[in-house]
Amino acid sequence: MKKIMIILLFSIAGLYARPENNEVDAKVDALLKSMTLEEKIGQMTQSDYTAIANHPEDVIQYSIGSILWGGSSEVKDVTGHGWKEVCDSLQGLSEKTRLKIPILFGIDAVHGHNNVTDAVIFPHNIGLGATRNPELLEQIGKVTAEELKGTGIQWDFAPCIAVARNIRWGRTYESYGEDPSLVSELGAAYIKGMQGDDLSRDVSALACAKHFLGDGGTVNGKDQGDTECDYQTLMAIHLPGYVAAIKAGAKSVMASYSSWNGNKMHGNKDLLTGLLKGRLHFDGFIVSDWAGIDQLPGDFKEDIQQSINAGLDMIMLPNGLGGQNNYVDFVTDLKELVQEGKVSNDRIDDAVRRILKVKYELGLFDKRYTDNDLTDKIGSLEHREVARKAVRQSFVLLKNNDNILPVSKNAKRVVVVGKYANDIGAQCGGWTISWQGDTGKTITGGTTILDGIKKAVSNGTKVVYSADGSTLGQADVIIAVVGEKPYAEMIGDRSDLNLSDDDIALVNKVKASGIPVVTLLLSGRPMILGTALDNSDAFAAIWLPGSEGEGIADVLFGDYAPTGKLSHSWPKDMQQIPINVGDKAYDPLFPYGFGLTYPVEKAMK
Ligand code: BGC
Ligand code: BGC
Repeated sequence: MKKIMIILLFSIAGLYARPENNEVDAKVDALLKSMTLEEKIGQMTQSDYTAIANHPEDVIQYSIGSILWGGSSEVKDVTGHGWKEVCDSLQGLSEKTRLKIPILFGIDAVHGHNNVTDAVIFPHNIGLGATRNPELLEQIGKVTAEELKGTGIQWDFAPCIAVARNIRWGRTYESYGEDPSLVSELGAAYIKGMQGDDLSRDVSALACAKHFLGDGGTVNGKDQGDTECDYQTLMAIHLPGYVAAIKAGAKSVMASYSSWNGNKMHGNKDLLTGLLKGRLHFDGFIVSDWAGIDQLPGDFKEDIQQSINAGLDMIMLPNGLGGQNNYVDFVTDLKELVQEGKVSNDRIDDAVRRILKVKYELGLFDKRYTDNDLTDKIGSLEHREVARKAVRQSFVLLKNNDNILPVSKNAKRVVVVGKYANDIGAQCGGWTISWQGDTGKTITGGTTILDGIKKAVSNGTKVVYSADGSTLGQADVIIAVVGEKPYAEMIGDRSDLNLSDDDIALVNKVKASGIPVVTLLLSGRPMILGTALDNSDAFAAIWLPGSEGEGIADVLFGDYAPTGKLSHSWPKDMQQIPINVGDKAYDPLFPYGFGLTYPVEKAMK
């Protein structure tokens, strides 16, 4: 069965191998012929902004082809206009190089353009998985591309098409779900929306399917860990997303930090070159992850040799590791490796050809600066409406005793409790303005869940906010918001996913009032709910909804029906983890695909 699936996957990929674009190829070949080895290596170099910021002239000296902003490497002014200024000024340096090859800028816009304070922040992928709505994903890809281009950044390190198989993993929320077919469908839709039919449109950006391969399958859900499984399982679970991504036109792929059966993916020639570029006909380029090559055995120069020979085309070089400005070491070492015959000229040409081709396809040689109109549209109402819809559709209702939901907009008194009910940072989660994210009402623009509730109710309704649940009074309903504090990769791995004692105590305390309790869980994954579920009359998983808190109120007050379906199996206790749909003994608290609803008058989509 599995074998048939693999054969099928390869033949599908073969069918969709794209015809050669001769005009672009001719331009690439001509340019390549005129390049020195140093200039070629420059194209394979991606430096972090924090290193370049201190030495902007290095962009010219080393003909640096790409610059990224890591999760903690923002510019000083993090508004859309602030970002645009920096990008355009860096881009200006490219015109001072001999060949004037434009710079490709990359960033993690993993739930909207999340390093920009006026940008719209979408739900993280786990919530989008619950929407089961590829058209919506396409719209989100499109909006995110427009907001990126409004800052002069043309490349998004997204979508993450990891298939998270163990919710201990701190990046579970970056995955659309535990099922490869869901991940494939939604990842492909996002790529289509982001890139459009034609990469050179003003509103198209380059997508990056990541992290190849097996990032979501590591033992114990350890970030950057080892995925121990046979080849068939690797293909059946972790590969389909890439087949779909290539079919959707993905032109860049990021290698995974993780290993497969003890071997680091960054050095895996069979899978990077043999499978991805060979059998799957991937004609874009492969970028390494942040200092990912440093994890290969040997010294930095050996890391470069192994990874480039394995098939990596562009190397992501953060500041600080392997030397102060480690792009200098990279350029020096790679040049020596070529001179020593350890990396072939053909390999260099192949890498550079792939990168230049994408730069041509993006239209950068004709237009390298930001379109101001797009800058002005960052965070527009139209864009926020798309996110609000995504928030509604990601709402998964797990319990609704006595039809407590929807709450009447004419209720006399609604009490909201929980410190995260009025906290933009908590509802956005990690990868929001900073790498790990942060709590706080003002970390970025948007509407909190509490603000959304206040806007939704009628004039006669009193909404009372009591973070610790000390002021309840004669309320019609209590809405409790509980959940996780923001985190991102590495820091977010957990061996204990029980709701915090404070959250359990809060729900118990408000339940004791006898007033019906609706609990909303903000989290990057299913959690062990304990008595919080029993003590709630209604319970919903709202994941990490992002900046548009009104989408929650849309569902709570019955303007829209809840339609979200779990993209992960929900375990009863820690011992059940990992648990995934299709397991032999499958007895979760809520199965994959679970989600209740209630009737409303309005259409949902
Ligand atoms: C992450 C990638 C990300 C990169 C750049 C890495 O640590 O694994 O997903 O794209 O950093 O920020
Ligand atoms: C960077 C991230 C990166 C992480 C890994 C952070 O400082 O901003 O992009 O993934 O370091 O070490």
